[in-house]
Amino acid sequence: MIEDKNPKRTPLSELGEFKLIEHLTDHFEINQKSTVKGIGDDAAILKFENKDVVISTDLLIEGVHFDLSYVPLKHLGYKAVMVNLSDIYAMNAMATQITVSIAVSNRFPLEALEELYAGISTAAKLYNVDVVGGDTTSSTSGLIISITAIGEVNQGEQVLRTGAQPNDLLVVTGDLGGAYMGLQVLEREKEVFKVNPQSQPDLSMYTYIVERQLKPEARKDIVELLKQLEVKPTSMIDISDGLSSEIIHICKQSKTGVDLYENKIPLDPQVISTCEEFNIDSTTVALNGGEDYELLMTVAQDDYPKIKGNPNLTVIGYMTEESKGMHLVTRAEERIPIIAKGWNALNNQS
Ligand code: ADP
Ligand code: MG
Repeated sequence: MIEDKNPKRTPLSELGEFKLIEHLTDHFEINQKSTVKGIGDDAAILKFENKDVVISTDLLIEGVHFDLSYVPLKHLGYKAVMVNLSDIYAMNAMATQITVSIAVSNRFPLEALEELYAGISTAAKLYNVDVVGGDTTSSTSGLIISITAIGEVNQGEQVLRTGAQPNDLLVVTGDLGGAYMGLQVLEREKEVFKVNPQSQPDLSMYTYIVERQLKPEARKDIVELLKQLEVKPTSMIDISDGLSSEIIHICKQSKTGVDLYENKIPLDPQVISTCEEFNIDSTTVALNGGEDYELLMTVAQDDYPKIKGNPNLTVIGYMTEESKGMHLVTRAEERIPIIAKGWNALNNQS
């Protein structure tokens, strides 16, 4: 489905490991004060003064986490960085460095890795993180990418999953369900393409949701916004697996219950119309579809005036005593227990 715009195919064996690493990494710049030494030695050196350091790693495996038949490599590189930065921002921290490790089979030419690194490079520039190291090795089949993100936060400003209190407001950024519906559209087009390889997909009706799937943005802007509003959430998590499973993480780790209001969940009109087309319930998609990379947080009632009316922040419920349990309050005012059905890497076969 994705056209090969770059017909040149240079086998990786033509370069060898060291030339390959040099080729892929020689353009990375160092912009962070905390980077003392980047790529090129046995290890990078970082120096953080009066800051706490946060670190997070993710592993992405071809066939499990991504499908190269409809994900362009440039987008994959970009998304792999976003997935990691999102975890740093979810701590209320700023990302400063990443390392990138890849395992590739000889099925990939140099030009494919150039595409992947173009995406990584764009993301690093845009989000102002230095690429300070990594590892390159071969794999017998497919592509594996592991990124580690490093960030900094002023002591005492980090936000954990454990701090929510009864009566705190439950707040979400952006809108939900877009990435999942984008994936549904792309998978449908892939099936059409299998039957008729001449078909050219018309995705113009789905630009927003396809972009949400292929090119998500981590919410660095929200960490900056919270600082500007002088709001420190009591707890925070990024939404990688769907709203319900992230709510359950906060409730379990903070020992609270929750009332989540169905009619408050923010949905883009394109999500609603595509859900209608696919005959899927949009609330189910927001609760269980993953990969939106929005932030979910709890905010003390006293801070409500500071966040009220902000278009980036939607109050979708409030925290309760643990004994009250975790509930979705539907439009019909029924109370339904929230259960985890989030995207799970261990049983996801789609
Ligand atoms: P070593 O043999 O000590 O692992 P390498 O030759 O693998 O060293 O790496 C040389 C330098 O290049 C190191 O700074 C390493 O962090 C960096 N590097 C290796 N592979 C990658 C990669 N895929 N992306 C970014 N940096 C990399
Ligand atoms: Mg190495």
